[in-house]
Amino acid sequence: PIALVWFRNDLRLADNPALRAALDGGYTPLPLYIHAPEEEFPWAPGAASLAWRHQSLAALDADLRQRGTHLRLFHGPSLAILQAVVAASGAEAVFWNRRYEPAIEQRDTGIKQALRAQGLRVESFNGSLMFEPWAVQTKQGGPFKVFTPFWRAASAQWRNEPLWEAPAALAEADTGPAGVPLAALGLLPTPRWDMPFWSDWTPGEAGAHAALEVFIDGALHGYADSRDRPDQVGTSRLSPHLHFGEIAPWRLAAAIQSARSAASAAGVDAWLRELGWREFAHHLLHHFPQSAQHNFNPAFDRFAWANLREETLERWRTGRTGVPIVDAGLRELLATGWMHNRVRMIVGSYLTKHMRAHWLEGARWFWDTLVDADLANNTLGWQWVAGTGADAAPYFRVFNPVTQATRFDPDARYITRWVPELAKLPTALRFAPWTDPAVAARLAPDYPAHPLVDLASGRDAALGAYRTLRASR
Ligand code: FAD
Repeated sequence: PIALVWFRNDLRLADNPALRAALDGGYTPLPLYIHAPEEEFPWAPGAASLAWRHQSLAALDADLRQRGTHLRLFHGPSLAILQAVVAASGAEAVFWNRRYEPAIEQRDTGIKQALRAQGLRVESFNGSLMFEPWAVQTKQGGPFKVFTPFWRAASAQWRNEPLWEAPAALAEADTGPAGVPLAALGLLPTPRWDMPFWSDWTPGEAGAHAALEVFIDGALHGYADSRDRPDQVGTSRLSPHLHFGEIAPWRLAAAIQSARSAASAAGVDAWLRELGWREFAHHLLHHFPQSAQHNFNPAFDRFAWANLREETLERWRTGRTGVPIVDAGLRELLATGWMHNRVRMIVGSYLTKHMRAHWLEGARWFWDTLVDADLANNTLGWQWVAGTGADAAPYFRVFNPVTQATRFDPDARYITRWVPELAKLPTALRFAPWTDPAVAARLAPDYPAHPLVDLASGRDAALGAYRTLRASR
């Protein structure tokens, strides 16, 4: 008998519960992928994410072909495609690994009901999280809103199961529709601005395993300290691999744990905690699906967000604000599809506090430009930075980008790498060129002379708006 194995954000063979269930059930798997961006409304995947997906699907297909089968590609709607493939192939079962975005959870529930009503065996599995978002509860039986108690409860249920290696061979289901070629899905941008990305990244399962090894051999040991340093390779850069499910988080956790030594213990614990934040983000999005669109803390619905002109926002997006660390981060994002976490916080704080733009402006830009764009993590990150979230930095804690830069990029190496117009300035001036206008005009003539929003007055205005909000309660 044939079972459809519907690949989604689980673009791997090892530790793939849906594929495994098909094989354990004695089925011949028919692997397929359906492109249906409109079903993810209002968060249809962004351009950088689609470009990654193209590469990752190509890698998955190559891995399947090496084993004797291949990936069939289709353009949605999902239910109609699944029904058509079932009808044409005579499949008796459909298996997939769950996704947790609100629109997808809803869609999948409907698909499951419809296919079961046709008499098919339909099962979904947890292929991307250490535990289901609903498996961890407070003593009162509700969802957590604060990370620390969540983490205390969650780490006790940490997934720890035997790893499942990719099968060496897979039978081909010689039936059913052929699907379309990968290029026909139209996932790549025109022009190909993504081309430079692929010297930094190798999408796909093999690339994910390689990134894990690089991290264990390198940055993991010092991670507890280096994770805040954008001028170093201090983190794992596993986020896009995790988002697309190219490696299972429980395989990552097991590998990181087994690298534990006296010297690396702090790094191991700090890294597992970050994986815990990813779980927390999925927990929150599942229980509070509206938080991807609305302030978690509804008091901020009355906050005086600024109505910024498009050209002002465009200066932030393209890294021309005149604040070097902010511009460096936004340019790193455009050039590589990724930005260091510390810098994500700095550019987010400048946008939502100094510029007082609504966090959704930033969330939408990140959504379109990040290769690791992930609705749970992005929502949590932006609501945290903006101070509107569940467990958020309080709004009145405004990051000073100059202090942040001198602390975490002390030699201005990260700044200079992405903002080369500043390279002729003495190091101390590269953090805040406006403090010596004469020297800046002479040695960095192509860089904005003033920040888009002055740091002191922007901060005062933000705090003023916050006081007004508090007073109006
Ligand atoms: P590491 O430091 O090596 O961490 C390991 C893994 O833990 C990451 O790959 C990621 O899956 C998870 N993780 C780490 N930090 C966080 C965090 N703060 N919240 C949730 N999970 C975390 N991450 C995304 O994956 N997608 C996003 O769209 C995203 N948007 C963000 C927006 C803002 C404004 C902020 C402040 C953070 C955002 N993050 C997002 C979280 C974090 O910045 C990235 O996960 C991290 O920089 C990825 O790099 P890494 O893999 O080297 O991380």
